[in-house]
Amino acid sequence: METEIIQSDYNLKNVEDIFIHLKNNISNTKKTTAKERIKKLSQLEKYILDHRPKIQEAIYKDFKKNPIEVDTTEILSTVGLIRHAKKNLKAWMKPKRVGTPLSMLGTGSKIIYEPKGVVLIISPWNYPFYLAISPLIYAIAAGNTVAIKPSEISSHTSNFLETMIDDLYPDNEVKVVLGGVETSTKLLEQKFNHIFFTGSPQIGKVVMSAAAKHLTSVTLELGGKSPTVIMEDTDLKDAADKITWGKFINVGQTCVAPDYVLIHKNKVQEFVDQMQNTINEFYSPDGEVIKHSKDYCRIISIKHFYRLKEMIEDAAEKGATVIMNGEFDPEERYIPPTLITNVTEEMIVMQEEIFGPILPIKTYSDIQEAYDYINSKEKPLALYAFGNKKKELQKVIKNTSAGGTCINEVIVHINNPDLPFGGVNNSGIGKSHGKFGFIGFSNERAILKNRVGMTGIKPIYPPYGKLASKL
Ligand code: NAD
Repeated sequence: METEIIQSDYNLKNVEDIFIHLKNNISNTKKTTAKERIKKLSQLEKYILDHRPKIQEAIYKDFKKNPIEVDTTEILSTVGLIRHAKKNLKAWMKPKRVGTPLSMLGTGSKIIYEPKGVVLIISPWNYPFYLAISPLIYAIAAGNTVAIKPSEISSHTSNFLETMIDDLYPDNEVKVVLGGVETSTKLLEQKFNHIFFTGSPQIGKVVMSAAAKHLTSVTLELGGKSPTVIMEDTDLKDAADKITWGKFINVGQTCVAPDYVLIHKNKVQEFVDQMQNTINEFYSPDGEVIKHSKDYCRIISIKHFYRLKEMIEDAAEKGATVIMNGEFDPEERYIPPTLITNVTEEMIVMQEEIFGPILPIKTYSDIQEAYDYINSKEKPLALYAFGNKKKELQKVIKNTSAGGTCINEVIVHINNPDLPFGGVNNSGIGKSHGKFGFIGFSNERAILKNRVGMTGIKPIYPPYGKLASKL
C-alpha cells in the first residue's frame, strides 16, 4: 500500500491571493438570505450523493476502508448534518428578541447573527471527508467565505475535496488549499476572522498562538484519551459489542473512540472473553484471519503503524499481558485488534492518545478509584459509562467532566445534531454541530434601539451632584 503525500503545490504568494479574494467577497455573502444559503447547501448535498462512489474510492485508497463504513461514517453522516441545517437555518438566522430591564423602558433589544467573515478550516486525516465538510456546512450557513486546508496525509480524499469545491463554488466563496505544514503556517499568518481547527492538542496550541497574533477567534476540536467506565453490574456482552464497534471502527483512528477501559478487578477476565468473542463475530465470522476481513481497515501511514507497534511492544516489555488477534504487517500497515491487561502508568499506551486498534484495560477495586484516575488526567473529549443502576450512572457524570458522554453506548452522541459536539480545555475549545455550529461561525451582535428624542437614562447624565441624594 502506498500513501502519496501532497507537496505544497500552492506557491506561498497564492495563499495571500486566495485570502484577499475571500476577504473582498465577504460583504456579498454577509447579505445572503436563508434561501440563498440553503441553495448552496442543497448543491453540496446533491454533489456528495451524486459522487458517492468517487468518495468511497478516494477513502479506500487512503485507508482500505469498507465502502459501507465510508457511507455511514463519512457520506451519510455529512448529508444528515446538511439536511438538519437546511431544515433549521431560517430559525437559526432569525433575530432573537430579548427582554428590557425596567430602567431601560421604551427601548427594544435583539440579537442578530452576522457571519464572522473570512474563516479558515483546518482538518485532519482520520475522517478526511466528514471533518472537512461538516464545519463547512455551518460556515456557509452563517454566511462566511471559507478557506479549507485538508490533511496532506489522506491525499486521495483531499484531492477529491479540491475538485468538489472547485466544481461547486466560486474561488471567492469557498476555496480548498492543498498542502502540508508550510501551507498551513502561511494560511495561519493571514488575518482570518475565525479558525476552525480539528486535530491534535499539540497542533491546536500552534493554531491558537497564531490566532492570538490577530486576536482571531478559534474553535478547536482536539483529541486525547477518552475513558470507558464499566460498572460491576454491567451486561458485559452488551458492553463488549458496543466497545468493539466503537474501538475498531476506522481501526481506532477516531477522536471519540473509547481509548481505554476501567473495570472492576473481578470482571476483567469475563470482559476480555466477551471482547474476543465479539472481535471474532465482527471480523472473522467464518474463521478466516482478520487481516483478510473486508470490514477491517488500515493504519493511515507507516509512521503511525510503527508508533502503534512500539506502543504494544513497550507494554509487553513492561509486563503487560498483550492479546493480539494476529500479526503485524508493515507492508499492509495492518495492526490486528489488540487487548492489553495489567497495564501501568509507565507504559506509553496509558500516557498518549492511542488512535489505533489497541484497547488497554485497567482495573479498579472501588469505583472512586476510577473517578480519581480520570480526574487526574486532562478533561477528555468523550467519556463512556456502562451499568444498570441509574444512581451509579448519575454519579459518574457528577464526579467527572468531559466534552460529551454516552451512557450504555459509545461514540453515537456525535450523530445527534441537537447536541453540542466538542471538548473541554485540552480536548477542545468551542462547540460544533447544529445550532452550536452555526453560532460558532456567527457573531452574535447586540442591537438596542431607541426613538429620537427619548431616553430613560437622562437622570444619570452629568452633572452628578443632583444624583447624590437619590442613589
Ligand atoms: P494534526 O494535529 O497532526 O493535523 C491536523 C491538521 O493540522 C492537518 O491539516 C495538518 O496539515 C495541520 N498541521 C500539522 N502540523 C501543523 C503545524 N505545525 N502548523 C500548522 N498546521 C499543522 O492531527 P492529525 O494527526 O491529522 O489528526 C489526529 C488528531 O486529531 C488526534 O489527536 C485526534 O483525536 C484529533 N481529532 C479530533 C477530532 C475532534 O472532532 N475533536 C476529530 C478528529 C481528530
